[in-house]
Amino acid sequence: MRDKIIQLEKISRMLEPEKELRRVTRELVIDYSEEFLDNIENLKTYNQSRDMGLALLDSPISEEGIGIEDAIVLLAENVDKPGLNPASGGHLGYIPGGGIYFSALGDYLADVFNRYAGVFYASPGAVRMENMLIRWMSEIVGYPSSASGNLTTGGSLANLIAIVTARDAMGIRAEDVGRSVIYLSSQAHHSVDKAIRIAGLRECLIRYVPLDEKYRIVPAALEKMIAEDVKMALKPFLIVASAGTTDVGAIDPLPAIGDIAQNNNVWYHIDAAYGGFFVLTDEGKYKLSGMEKSDSLVIDPHKGLFLPYGLGVVLIKDRAKLNASHYYNANYMQDAVGLDDEPSPAELSPELTKHFRGLRLWLPLKLHGLRPFRDCLEEKLLLAKYFHSEVEKLGFISDLEPELSVVVYRYEPKSGDANQFNKRLLNEVVADGRVFISSTMLKGKFTLRFACLAFRTHLSTVEMLLKVLKEKVAKLTDSGNEP
Ligand SMILES: *Cc1c(COP(=O)(O)O)cnc(C)c1O
Repeated sequence: MRDKIIQLEKISRMLEPEKELRRVTRELVIDYSEEFLDNIENLKTYNQSRDMGLALLDSPISEEGIGIEDAIVLLAENVDKPGLNPASGGHLGYIPGGGIYFSALGDYLADVFNRYAGVFYASPGAVRMENMLIRWMSEIVGYPSSASGNLTTGGSLANLIAIVTARDAMGIRAEDVGRSVIYLSSQAHHSVDKAIRIAGLRECLIRYVPLDEKYRIVPAALEKMIAEDVKMALKPFLIVASAGTTDVGAIDPLPAIGDIAQNNNVWYHIDAAYGGFFVLTDEGKYKLSGMEKSDSLVIDPHKGLFLPYGLGVVLIKDRAKLNASHYYNANYMQDAVGLDDEPSPAELSPELTKHFRGLRLWLPLKLHGLRPFRDCLEEKLLLAKYFHSEVEKLGFISDLEPELSVVVYRYEPKSGDANQFNKRLLNEVVADGRVFISSTMLKGKFTLRFACLAFRTHLSTVEMLLKVLKEKVAKLTDSGNEP
């Protein structure tokens, strides 16, 4: 048996590359990423490709390894080329973010040291760091220091945690579901609908609250709906507002909704995944006031703080309620006692073992300081206003003043189907690839979206988009669409 063990050890030690192999591998990886970063301004934002990464399958997982050079070739051709390049400043569709570099270094360190960030006993420092970040975010949204939360993989899971917490805190048992009422905007993010279903609440009564002309919840309508439901002996228990809708960037009237929630003893959740970090700017702080009235809130550093994908945050004003839905007991964890003021992520979220995500947020915040983040966010607000006025000069219709950094606009050709025209225009812009834009349907109209949140988007990027739009409109109207 000892011989066999020693024989196995020889091969298993290959998992610990020696210093020279570490160096060579690391340098090639760094060279590859440096080449990308050096060139990022010239790379296409969208690459249409026919094979779409198919060649990956020609290199199956097998007994023997390959060299890093070959692995990089596979990545370069099949992963880092086809489709959207979200690291590009030209990413102006969906909700962009970008991927700041110091965050990547934070991930690198987190992975090398592999600290166990799920439980305070195992890594008090990692848990303290994550809790400190949660306290900082609580503070900027106006929550008290008794609030808590969790660093999740993204906004969708953060919404799920909030809705599960709301369900339990409001005492919604299986037998109550059919008479419990949730109030939503039709503009709420689809991850909220998904979370409601996953949380076992699909049979709740879902009321879509009427919106005003700027796609915001009308508080008086909400109040009336709740009063009618109470009269019918139903149980209103959850209101979801958005602080920056994904579609148009609308901010629901947060303070008024907060008052209604409080007066009716209804849980108030705000989805600020997209817009929340604008609170760091003066304009955002003013527009987002009222966030502090909510019971739970979602905010996405991989959007508003430009981190690489993989970090959302849920904040819950009353930590005991978050814990009541997510505590755990296990005999084998009996030694893992924590501190009262430094709760462990494992008792506040569905996860046990987890990535030490805090470091990818802490390192860039510490190295840069807050100021560049603040200014980058303000720059995005101004770029949206600039685009809004310039695109109208090109003959587009953009009748909503941008609330944050999303602008909706469409071209109305003199003849022909306007929806078809805008769809073709979108396809032309995406196929061109210099910039990437997306679309939505508003009141039955195919509408183009300018969503500005990539940290690499600057004035020159917006000028480029305007130039591309002008070119493509000319092309489409010349080709017989316009008389
Ligand atoms: C992006 C977004 C989400 C979902 O967040 P993910 O991080 O993509 O899971 C939820 N709500 C809003 C308003 C968003 O913009």
